[in-house]
Amino acid sequence: MSEQLKNQLVDRFGRSISYLRLSVTDRCDFRCIYCMDEEMTFVPRSEVLSFEEMQCVAKAFVGLGVKKIRLTGGEPLVRANVVALSRTIANLEGLDELVMTTNGSQLPKLAVDLRNAGVKRLNISLDTLRAGRFKALTRTGSLARVLAGINAACEQGFEAIKLNCVILKGRNDDEILDLVEFALAKQIDISFIEEMPLGQVSSHNRAEAFMASADIRDVISKRYFLTRLRKDSFIEGPSKYFSINGFKSRIGFISPHSENFCADCNRVRVTAEGRLLLCLGNEDALDLKTILRSTNNSNEALQTAIIKAMNLKPERHYFDDASAPQIVRFMNATGG
Ligand code: SAM
Ligand code: SF4
Repeated sequence: MSEQLKNQLVDRFGRSISYLRLSVTDRCDFRCIYCMDEEMTFVPRSEVLSFEEMQCVAKAFVGLGVKKIRLTGGEPLVRANVVALSRTIANLEGLDELVMTTNGSQLPKLAVDLRNAGVKRLNISLDTLRAGRFKALTRTGSLARVLAGINAACEQGFEAIKLNCVILKGRNDDEILDLVEFALAKQIDISFIEEMPLGQVSSHNRAEAFMASADIRDVISKRYFLTRLRKDSFIEGPSKYFSINGFKSRIGFISPHSENFCADCNRVRVTAEGRLLLCLGNEDALDLKTILRSTNNSNEALQTAIIKAMNLKPERHYFDDASAPQIVRFMNATGG
């Protein structure tokens, strides 16, 4: 069956889905102000997919032509035995690459094991290089630990490491150049992500704190000449990448507000509780957990449902439209 079904993940707008972002958990050791509220209620453990169920989901998608899987969360590395899950998924026949997004706090102890398990690339979130500010932005995190995690990852020979930075006006916009220079010195990539309106946050006013990619680019361009990179195998998806002459690092901009990229969307998400989310900025979803638990993890039932769900994928998100309905789920529950 799966041979026949390969490459069937095409939506109503002709977009092929080749990329799955799989959330390992909605829990996290940080409480970043743009991602979560200070007081969070997490999904009860019985409602979170088991690793066996996650493997079934990954296998079903790879059987349908998905080439890249990203493990994310919440913080994927706070879930016990995530290395074993990574190894199983990395070994799925037909998958080109398993990658991960992490806050870096567990990398001092897990970077080696993740690399050995077959994780090819890492995105590590870092919004500031100042310890006090790091604590304020993450509410619970330690900058020293994350920097140690980045160093540990740099020693493991991952195919690429990229920093993810969310810039908020008045909070960390004075560190744009410092963050770029940190990445240049480490010879790793860096992407700036515009803050998205996922969940109600109490710590700041999102409209006031919003900083557009073009403004961030302007700050960098005052010191460095940025050359736009052409799309290639590395550059697929929503980022626009630039290089700086004489340096290996790529500088990326992900602009969900200011430069809508939905026409090129190639991805779907599965949350920790098994909801297949067809779009980051819409609530259209399919409950895969019920299918898994009612069919004894049937690959055929999953694949049939996933193909049908392609019809639910909306054309685009409306983060740039203040009158559009707001998304009530937080990023940690979305699978960032
Ligand atoms: N815990 C991991 C981490 O922080 O990298 C993985 C999950 S996190 C939800 C994935 C990415 O989403 C992070 O780079 C984070 O900065 C970003 N993020 C979280 N909330 C966001 C928001 N409201 N707008 C834009 N990016 C956000
Ligand atoms: Fe945790 Fe990542 Fe969200 Fe920060 S952005 S609270 S590290 S899930």
